[in-house]
Amino acid sequence: MTIQCKREEPAAYSNTPRCLICTQPLLVRIVRGRRSGKPFVMLICSQDARHFRAFINDRDYVAQVLERLEDRA
Ligand SMILES: [Zn+2]
Repeated sequence: MTIQCKREEPAAYSNTPRCLICTQPLLVRIVRGRRSGKPFVMLICSQDARHFRAFINDRDYVAQVLERLEDRA
């Protein structure tokens, strides 16, 4: 088992959770449920596009996440 050297990452990734499998930074996206219309967070592995979904109830929180994502773009 080898330990990968820590690579330099863009600042935007500094607080980003990493994929537990390949350790790549997870991309954060907000998507809305087709039926419920409720927003939820997707954490997408940039390596192989596998993802987690995290449901959120607090609309203010969602709005803040969206603001942060727009800042990065
Ligand atoms: Zn991965």
